[in-house]
Amino acid sequence: MASIFTKIIEGEIPCYKVAEDNKHIAFLDINPNAKGHTLCVPKDEENKIFDLDKAGYADLMEFSRKVAIALEKTVPCNRVGMSVIGLEVPHVHVHLIPLNDMSEMTFQSKVKLGKDEFVALAKEIAGNL
Ligand code: AMP
Repeated sequence: MASIFTKIIEGEIPCYKVAEDNKHIAFLDINPNAKGHTLCVPKDEENKIFDLDKAGYADLMEFSRKVAIALEKTVPCNRVGMSVIGLEVPHVHVHLIPLNDMSEMTFQSKVKLGKDEFVALAKEIAGNL
C-alpha cells in the first residue's frame, strides 16, 4: 500500500536524506525523539517488517547498520538504539535513535529542530557514511 514514505521515495515530497542505495533510503525523522533520529526504509512497499523475505530483511539490517555507524560518529551519544513500530506509517522502517537516556526510546518526549539544523545534520551524517 502506498504511504507517505512511497511519496518520499519517489521524490514527490521532500525529506532530509541521509543515505540511499538501490533498495533503501534513510532520512531524518521529522518529529525526532532525539537529535539524529533517522528512519531506514526499504523502497519496496511492505507494511510489516517480519513480512519481508529473508534477503529483504537481511539487506535492511545491513543498510541500517551502515547508517547507525555513521550516526554514532556524528551525534554524541551513549549508543544508537534501534526500534521498529509502524503504527503510524504502514511501510517498513527502522528507527535509529542516538541515545543518552531511556526516555528517548519511549516516543513520548520529542526534540524540536529547525530546517537549517535538519539540513546540516543530514549532510553531516551522510559525510560520515
Ligand atoms: P511509526 O509508524 O509509529 O514507526 O512512526 C512513523 C514515524 O515516521 C514517526 O516517528 C514520524 O515522526 C515519522 N514521519 C512521519 N512522516 C514523516 C515525514 N514526512 N518525514 C520524516 N519522518 C516522518
